[in-house]
Amino acid sequence: MRELREFYIGGRWIAANSKAENVLVDPSTEHPWGVVALGDERDVNAAVAAATAAFPVWSATDPGERVAVIERMHEIYARRGEDMARAISAEMGAPIELARTRQAPAALRHMKNFLMAMEDFEFVRPLGPHAPDDRILMQPIGVVGMITPWNWPMSQVALKVVPALLTGCTMVLKPSEFAPLSSALLAEIIDEAGVPAGVFNLVQGDGATAGARLVEHPDIAMISFTGSTRAGASVLRGSAETFKRVALELGGKGANLVFADADEDAVERGVRACFMNSGQSCNAPTRMLVERTVYEDAVEKARQVAGSVCVGPSGEEGPHIGPVVSARQYERVQSLIETGIAEGARLVAGGPGRPSDFNCGFYVKPTVFADVTNDMTIAREEIFGPVLSIIPFEDEEDAVRIANDTPYGLTNYVQSGDGERRNRLARRLRSGMVEMNGQPRGAGSPFGGVGHSGGGREGGVPGLEEYLVVKSVSGWG
Ligand code: NAD
Repeated sequence: MRELREFYIGGRWIAANSKAENVLVDPSTEHPWGVVALGDERDVNAAVAAATAAFPVWSATDPGERVAVIERMHEIYARRGEDMARAISAEMGAPIELARTRQAPAALRHMKNFLMAMEDFEFVRPLGPHAPDDRILMQPIGVVGMITPWNWPMSQVALKVVPALLTGCTMVLKPSEFAPLSSALLAEIIDEAGVPAGVFNLVQGDGATAGARLVEHPDIAMISFTGSTRAGASVLRGSAETFKRVALELGGKGANLVFADADEDAVERGVRACFMNSGQSCNAPTRMLVERTVYEDAVEKARQVAGSVCVGPSGEEGPHIGPVVSARQYERVQSLIETGIAEGARLVAGGPGRPSDFNCGFYVKPTVFADVTNDMTIAREEIFGPVLSIIPFEDEEDAVRIANDTPYGLTNYVQSGDGERRNRLARRLRSGMVEMNGQPRGAGSPFGGVGHSGGGREGGVPGLEEYLVVKSVSGWG
């Protein structure tokens, strides 16, 4: 059994005060493989004290020095890439190929992108020629509390830790209690990169104790939270008394608008994107909206693609999808599949229960529902499993109405050969991101949502600015 009973605080590994622990279970086999200590108030207080003590010196360092730290981190992380992929695969069940090609390298990509954003970044800005003695100072906000989920563990952590380091903030990271191993490895990387003691601190723990303590701690200036909408609301409420800045990256229920003039791969691309990471992505295109004239063809295509998606254990090589993360998540996905059937959606692929090859493990059949209406539970709730809902639409107006009829607003998708239509839709869809014709967003394009998806922006220049406070100064010498 792997034991994670120490936290990285003030540049050292320190035994947890708390005796509470979480047993880590392999999602592929349901076998326990480790334990992680769940930090309590004393552990969080110690980490915040270390970050508070380190802030005056770190915040005054030259940006070039901080850039050099991230460059060193990149080098060390790249060298330990296989360790990181294995850690992520073990803790949350991502197939090892996905962990090697997408999950682990995401942090490297974020480091490169933030380094690019730093190239022309001005921490001291002129107000304008009309006020030559004015300056706008962009100053680090202070100690940042970071709370992250398990589904893209290193991607989410890097999107917070890297910009906070670059802008001169100090921090306490509390990763998901289901994904502690990757963050423990990152702490080793940060230590080896020579980040001064106290600048980065790691406390493992759950949301109710360690998470809540971070949120209410008076010495923390900002909480950057990625996770469920339910927990995001609690973080927002908990931060009110101490007037923290709160950056929220929450759930999603993305619509993928497939028009009759879409390219021939559009449906397949949409199905595979929905199932990627076993459907456990906040930006998964889980509602496929299809123009009525091509609707039945799309349903048939989706059925075929779902049938070709293999499910398998995380340790097995290959492009299959893995299990979902936990027994709780498995039960929730199963219950939502049952609800879809009970509410009258047409099951075209998959369905309840494990795929026939498995009698244990949190495996879910790649599932497609057609004839879904947007008021059904499976169209409204984030399922976080490999479950696609297909909904027909009549015309562009109808598609926009359905797509926007959700409290979420993270990523929407458009598949159409008509450029003018794509531009119109990019403006009208209510979401922080719109991705069209399968083209990925470019490096440094900020990630974030609106409404119940939260309003934070991670990545690129806006992702640096989230950690900075604007100070307006006159009489600059
Ligand atoms: P979760 O909300 O259960 O937990 C996320 C983190 O918050 C964990 O570290 C947890 O310990 C902590 N937490 C839980 N309740 C808390 C509370 N009351 N106070 C403080 N901390 C608390 O979410 P999860 O199951 O780990 O992750 C899946 C969710 O994350 C999905 O809803 C997904 O859409 C969302 N997500 C969003 C993004 C994004 O960028 N928008 C990215 C990835 C995941």
